[in-house]
Amino acid sequence: MNVSAEPHSHSEFPTDFRGAVLRPGDDQYDAARALYQGRAADEGPALIAQCADEEDVAAVLSYASARAIPVAVRSGGHGSDGYAMPGGALVIDLSAMRTVTVDPETRVVRAQPGVKLGEMDAAAQQHGLAVPAGTVTSTGVAGLTLGGGIGFLMRRYGATVDNLLACDMITVDGRKVRADETENPELFWALRGGGGNFGVVTSLEYRAHPVGPEVVAGQLIFPFDQAADVLGKLSAHLATAPRELGLLVAIADAPPLPMLPEEVHGKPALILVVVYTGEPATAHEVVEPLAALGQPLANLVAKTTWLQANSMLDAVAPYGMRMNLRGGYLPTLSADAVDVLLDNVAAVPSNPGLVYSINISFMGGAISEDVDEDAMAFSREGAAWLWEAICKWDAPEYDAQYDEWATTLTEAMRPHALTNCYTNLTDDLGEEWRRGVHGSEAKHQRLRSIKATWDPHNLLRFNKNIAPETTD
Ligand SMILES: Cc1cc2nc3c(=O)[nH]c(=O)nc-3n(C[C@H](O)[C@H](O)[C@H](O)COP(=O)(O)OP(=O)(O)OC[C@H]3O[C@@H](n4cnc5c(N)ncnc54)[C@H](O)[C@@H]3O)c2cc1C
Repeated sequence: MNVSAEPHSHSEFPTDFRGAVLRPGDDQYDAARALYQGRAADEGPALIAQCADEEDVAAVLSYASARAIPVAVRSGGHGSDGYAMPGGALVIDLSAMRTVTVDPETRVVRAQPGVKLGEMDAAAQQHGLAVPAGTVTSTGVAGLTLGGGIGFLMRRYGATVDNLLACDMITVDGRKVRADETENPELFWALRGGGGNFGVVTSLEYRAHPVGPEVVAGQLIFPFDQAADVLGKLSAHLATAPRELGLLVAIADAPPLPMLPEEVHGKPALILVVVYTGEPATAHEVVEPLAALGQPLANLVAKTTWLQANSMLDAVAPYGMRMNLRGGYLPTLSADAVDVLLDNVAAVPSNPGLVYSINISFMGGAISEDVDEDAMAFSREGAAWLWEAICKWDAPEYDAQYDEWATTLTEAMRPHALTNCYTNLTDDLGEEWRRGVHGSEAKHQRLRSIKATWDPHNLLRFNKNIAPETTD
């Protein structure tokens, strides 16, 4: 990670700022700069401006613009690159802006950027609704949405961006604008997948859908030696899967559950994480054939609530560890791609405190079929599956070996993967890679042109950066 800024004293920071202003040495500074990515803690920012409201956001951006000081943005703090708290930087921290409202009549949900997925889910479920989003409750709605947003509802209702109705945004020079299909439509196109490149989003408005409260969900745990066979059968088996089936395949160490034989505890296993949001009485028609793809060690799929189902992965998402994340789209789950993933499980360097998982998410349905590729910046063309590899460890001396493992795996997956990808579920892989992630040169150039309109001096550069189009 190399996300440091030129240090600055900020002696002229606006005195009418209403939220907390935290500098190194202040009581709350260390707590405020903690991110999901533990490596970000190696070097602290120069100033964290914890905004109380939109006026605070505008005040910091006006201050920064006038002095050409680059600005980082923190919402939920889950970005794997640690761009939310770069060393030496000025940070706009939105985590205190966390109001969420649900209109049960119109099914519109409004969230401020400090809202976390679990909070939005809980508020929407009070009315039997849910916004399609991610699978870990501590993830921020803002960063997730601006990148795209995928999860257990994507096959039924699409990506989070497919359900985004509008955003309020503060421009880099401190003006408030709205972006939707009719007001600033080009900006709205870019905000749906182009990340935090264009301004600071202070409110997100979503279309919610009826979900649960009762769903059928849980894990089917297979021994690792059945992994290739089960994965080999999966694509054909799922060809007619209903959109109500959400499925994430995890290759990870088996948890020490009493129903699993002790000899597999802590050893690699194949785990099908199933969430079926259709009629619970019909779930067996979907779940039983999945279990019959092999001889599972445990079938933990049962009736539960949507809130429990959509938080079951929290247990494997510990906060603050050092980590890396790689991933991309697959057009098919070919035997060769599966071999690469399984071979690399065996090659993960084993150190105390290691937590790893290779996940393969089943796409198709609404996310793949219902929205035109060029309708927004977020790209999904040709993607049938999404692979991702997450490694977490707890000591800096292991950084190099896990980064090397991740790079080797990424290179080995490259021939099997698409050029476009979901930018939120991988670390930034550099300029050449960023050029392809939105799916076409035309989309890339359109993003560069929109960036030039809204952030011509690239003040917002701590992100998967889109360089502003230049006129010379
Ligand atoms: C454990 C874990 C589980 C995850 N699960 C999923 C999942 O199921 N589905 C999925 O789609 N993704 C998932 N992700 C990825 C997630 O979508 C991204 O990490 C996302 O960036 C998190 O947003 P955040 O607000 O929490 O992060 P932050 O680190 O606060 O923000 C990330 C970046 O987004 C930009 N940004 C954030 N807020 C704003 C804003 N208000 N205005 C402008 N720019 C902004 C900034 O560039 C910032 O650096 C997961 C990540 C983790 C760590």
